[in-house]
Amino acid sequence: MSTAIVLAGHGSHISPRTAGLVWEHVDGLRALGLVDEVTAAFWKEAPSFHQVLRSLTATDVTIVPLFTAQGYFTQTVIPAEMGLAGPLTIRDGRTIRYTRTLSEHPYLSQIVRQRVQGALQASGAPPGKTAVAIIGHSTRRNPESRRATEAQARLIRALEPVAEVVDVYLDDSPAIGEVYALTSAPTLIAVPYFLALGSHTTQDVPGELGLEPGQTSGQVRGRKVYYTPPVGVEQSLREVIIELARDAGTPLYEARNEAQNQAQDGSAWDHCPAAGRDDLIAAVHEAGQMSFGQLLLTPHEVRRNGHEQPLETLTDPAALRARVREQPFRPLATSADLPGGWRVPVSDPAMLHAVVETVYPGAVADWAAHRRGTLLLETLASTTARQTGMYRALSGYAHSADMVARVCGACVRHPTWYFGHSPAEAIPCAEACNLWMTKALEAVVQRE
Ligand code: SF4
Repeated sequence: MSTAIVLAGHGSHISPRTAGLVWEHVDGLRALGLVDEVTAAFWKEAPSFHQVLRSLTATDVTIVPLFTAQGYFTQTVIPAEMGLAGPLTIRDGRTIRYTRTLSEHPYLSQIVRQRVQGALQASGAPPGKTAVAIIGHSTRRNPESRRATEAQARLIRALEPVAEVVDVYLDDSPAIGEVYALTSAPTLIAVPYFLALGSHTTQDVPGELGLEPGQTSGQVRGRKVYYTPPVGVEQSLREVIIELARDAGTPLYEARNEAQNQAQDGSAWDHCPAAGRDDLIAAVHEAGQMSFGQLLLTPHEVRRNGHEQPLETLTDPAALRARVREQPFRPLATSADLPGGWRVPVSDPAMLHAVVETVYPGAVADWAAHRRGTLLLETLASTTARQTGMYRALSGYAHSADMVARVCGACVRHPTWYFGHSPAEAIPCAEACNLWMTKALEAVVQRE
């Protein structure tokens, strides 16, 4: 039996930090070596919830949803996209475990209390003259989405001697801006019950509160407002992820890990998704050098193709990811504007594959399956039929040719899902990605 953990997050088309937090935990888990393969999966970015399972070779896969609420994404979207039957799915000889969400772990309540206590200390305001607002995302599509935020507010109400506690929402009622009508204490502590420093926590929530992006305290409507960091940015969150996996019955190599740790530190280049890895390594060694998208691969290094004099040597996945993903933010990992000026020296064949996987998550598995003739394609009709939210409006979408030319034309993948076939050495694309569907939906809305 081989094992894998997938950290499932939301991702973003606007901010690198939403998925960045998830990748940080992926790197940490890879270095620990508790399972054979570790990766992330996202709604908005690659690899998608739907494609990630085919990038893994493990027979026992654990999905850990990194969301602060049990709701629309954890109860509807992830199960639909991954074909999950519940906490345990047995399919095609594979066991798929679906853990509880982070919000169901008591650790998050500790963090919320720490945020409130820290802000009380920083403000010096008497608790009896301080209001606390726990700010959740929620969605009107699923009434469950607000339960975790409500529970955190109840806990603060019970345990902290503050004057008022309310829960307010980005996409539900009461809205965030209503906090000034719902409370009257001269000091307001606002705790975003979100995981990452993404666009919601750095722009949307502060904006609704009347703060500037980046402002952590200020005078708004005659009240002193303290805005705390979100709850998911602590290092110890990794321990919670491991506990959630352990609770779901994931076989972890903890004994082996202890022995290994004494001998050597693990590397975040290890334990990447392995589907297609051997094919890629064999192809590079046979050819001596090979292009893969905009990468030039040799047995000794990976660099951006066409950049002969790289400026910087990168040696860890986090630095590489930051370089190719965040400066500027590229929500589509395979968009044809890969930044250059870097090289990654490769110390062993598995690392060669890990570098490619870091730049183009999930692409090697599809490339290898396409070469072997085993890649399963999803038509646009079947992708939209799976949708439960706004992308349902794309069912019967009549302008896919225009959209393929416009969106896929700027991507190193070839839209095999649209043409039904791809050139032999192309990086195929088996289904319309979230960015494609978002652009198509924008076009539908504009036409209406
Ligand atoms: S749908 Fe188009 S833009 Fe999206 S990953 Fe596939 S080929 Fe690239």
